[in-house]
Amino acid sequence: MSASDQTPVASNSVREVVTADIERGTFGGRVQTRFPPEPNGYLHIGHAKAITVNFGIAADFDGTCNLRFDDTNPDTEEADYVDAILADLAWLGYPLDRAALFASDYFEQLYEWAELLIEKELAYVDEQDGETISAQRGGYGKPGIESPFRARAAEENLALFRRMRAGDFADGSHVLRAKIDMQHENMQLRDPVMYRIRAGHHHRTGDQWKIYPTYDWAHGQSDAIEGVTHSLCTLEFDSHRALYDWYLGHLPLPFEKPCQTEFARLELTHTIASKRKLMRLVDDGTVDGWDDPRMPTLRGLRRRGYPSLAIREFCSFIGVARTNSRHQIELLESFVRTNLNKVALRRMAVLRPLKVVITNWPVGDDGEPVVELMELNNNPENADDGTRMVAFTGEFYIEQDDFRAEPPPKYYRLTPGREVRLRGAYFVTATGFEADTDGQVTEVRVTYDPDTRGGSSPDGRKVKSTMHWVSAAHAVDGTAVLYDRLFTAEVPGDETGDPFDDLNESSREIIMGAKLEPALGDVEPGQVVQFERLGYFAADPRERLLFHRTVGLRDEWAKIQRRNS
Ligand code: ATP
Ligand code: MG
Repeated sequence: MSASDQTPVASNSVREVVTADIERGTFGGRVQTRFPPEPNGYLHIGHAKAITVNFGIAADFDGTCNLRFDDTNPDTEEADYVDAILADLAWLGYPLDRAALFASDYFEQLYEWAELLIEKELAYVDEQDGETISAQRGGYGKPGIESPFRARAAEENLALFRRMRAGDFADGSHVLRAKIDMQHENMQLRDPVMYRIRAGHHHRTGDQWKIYPTYDWAHGQSDAIEGVTHSLCTLEFDSHRALYDWYLGHLPLPFEKPCQTEFARLELTHTIASKRKLMRLVDDGTVDGWDDPRMPTLRGLRRRGYPSLAIREFCSFIGVARTNSRHQIELLESFVRTNLNKVALRRMAVLRPLKVVITNWPVGDDGEPVVELMELNNNPENADDGTRMVAFTGEFYIEQDDFRAEPPPKYYRLTPGREVRLRGAYFVTATGFEADTDGQVTEVRVTYDPDTRGGSSPDGRKVKSTMHWVSAAHAVDGTAVLYDRLFTAEVPGDETGDPFDDLNESSREIIMGAKLEPALGDVEPGQVVQFERLGYFAADPRERLLFHRTVGLRDEWAKIQRRNS
């Protein structure tokens, strides 16, 4: 049984919260969510979960979901990322039916609200440096120390804050802090920073602002400005919820106060799903870029050939729980395989070619070997995909692995004296071979049985294996790239160490000179086909005749389940 045949077992804690709110009539039955990426990198598989949760909840409850760029940090954000995120979101299956929103559009409102908190004596300008401020926060069971600037009068704070905005002060010289409680047991409430001075150029507001809101000061308020009801975020923000509520509780909101609910981050074995770490892979040249097929970014997975539907089904299968857990990458791959099995056309390709010559193949009137057209099924899973004609003649390629001069035990493929089936063509029997001085087989001789045309014998004779082949005279040369895990360890870095210590040095194998059946020259960029017996392969979006192996054919997930049961 493949993964997608099973009903989801995971709970959906977020759905339960929303259902309860609707029953109680909170928010007047309204449901509004948002997906709030920071435009400082590309979307990855973890974001796919956040996207399916937010857009999925909105769809299930007849609500709306906005895309809001959390663009509050001018240092790391770029307009290019905005475009890429929009494109990736559409590819994943969530094209926007409304304009994207930007936290930077609320800078003025946020600023006004900050002045309001200053007037209420709930915020103050601190002139200490960042290091001092963070040292004074104390720790769990360790008291905080109040800033000497904490008691400053509201008018003086207001004047300073306005000068911060005007650009009178250097980066890092002043911050605006909320005045909450330096002894609070939740560190988030020990007078958190609301604004810092940044000289950077913002991708949308340019040089207009000299001060920028922190995530915590911007996030809940942005939700409130938009009328978000359920602010869904990952568990690490659990301790921020009290601050989220504190800010909102002191402001005149246009809508009811939104409510933050947390869910578990998505983590996968052999994978890192954090932009910062993925950026390091790109920057240090471990991978070829954000869309390297080994990357767990949506662009990487797409180039690798992962159908977006498979990603969505995987996310829905694992559900939304409140405990962090790491899912087996084989489970995701199983969804990919199940999806592709239904839609991918079957083709033949020989990655490591070994030439085979039929010694009894007929010669035509023109003195040339006869060429026959064999009818092969395009997809046994879908009769609508029909058949294709594939040229077969007296010389063809098989995989080097599919012939052994001296077969090991239980080897059922071609070996001297043994008969095998060539998929959709003929039965052939090996009669001899050539080898070079190293003993490497360079050519195999076979005879064929003309009565087995199409690959079946009239006398019901059985053979133990069916092999793929590509006609030598018709083959097109191409390149296939095989991928292995990017990280050898199931948990890269074992949670606390450096994940980069677990990098797989040979995560990619490039095979040039693969022999492809001619139909593979017509595959659309990005299309995924099954190379018979070898796996699913995605045509590169840019380079013709370059194929990336998406996944192999064996269901590793089923194996894991057998092992665990
Ligand atoms: P990263 O740690 O990769 O930098 P982030 O949380 O800083 O991620 P954002 O762009 O701020 O990246 O994320 C946008 C949304 O996606 C947030 O709501 C965040 O909670 C969610 N998200 C990010 N990573 C994951 C993940 N691994 N699993 C589930 N949701 C995630
Ligand atoms: Mg973030």
